[in-house]
Amino acid sequence: MTPFLIDSHTHLDFRQFNADREDVIYRAKEANVKAMITIGTDPTTSKEAIKIAEKHTNIFAAIGVHPHDAAEASKDDILELKELLQHDKVVAIGEVGLDFYRNISAPDVQRKMLRMFLDWSQENGLPLIVHTREADEEILTVIRERGKNGWRGIFHCFPGDQYMADQVLEMGFHISFTGNITFKNYRKTDVVNHVPLEKLLVETDCPFLTPVPHRGKRNEPAFVHFVARKIAEIKGVSADEVARITTANAVNLFDLNIEDEE
Ligand SMILES: [Zn+2]
Repeated sequence: MTPFLIDSHTHLDFRQFNADREDVIYRAKEANVKAMITIGTDPTTSKEAIKIAEKHTNIFAAIGVHPHDAAEASKDDILELKELLQHDKVVAIGEVGLDFYRNISAPDVQRKMLRMFLDWSQENGLPLIVHTREADEEILTVIRERGKNGWRGIFHCFPGDQYMADQVLEMGFHISFTGNITFKNYRKTDVVNHVPLEKLLVETDCPFLTPVPHRGKRNEPAFVHFVARKIAEIKGVSADEVARITTANAVNLFDLNIEDEE
């Protein structure tokens, strides 16, 4: 039997899926993408992510505040999120991090919010889903301040170089890649090759970052195959091996309880 894939980073609640969300989920299962994690980016989308996870056996939720939205979250929102960490479909804190590329929220607000989420992860053991852009050194510093090693989590849509990858792996994190590794202008295949398969997860980050050959259209979890295949090609291993190992990694990291739906 071909091993199934897990799309470890989706935004199934986004309005881009409003017209056909159930079809998108069905197509993923047909494509042997047996489980998905749908990720909140602010208090509202976090609650939406939980609702979708409640409706579907093998869809799980992550809740958090994206660095872009850090300035918008109120104290009450944060208290509510903290309670929702106890929900049995919530498997991670995310996405959280630093984004100094667009600075939609002020850097200080982003740092403060990230520290809080790091502490939450330490307190309750839930893994982190980390977004970082143009903040490589800074994010390593902030994380080290809160505890040097033994982190559980993932740097998603990994933008760094081999050095950054080594730092992140050393702290205990996993790394995931998305559809941008299939783009003609992607320049970091050496990083993909460098990260051991035992530390890798695959993701779509749908509706964004649609892999070739669907680039330019909306992304969806069924397309995570193209990411896995590209990793297989770069590493010179079979796509089945990438599926088998990245699935095992996701199950272990997020402690997923995947059920047979047939
Ligand atoms: Zn995302």
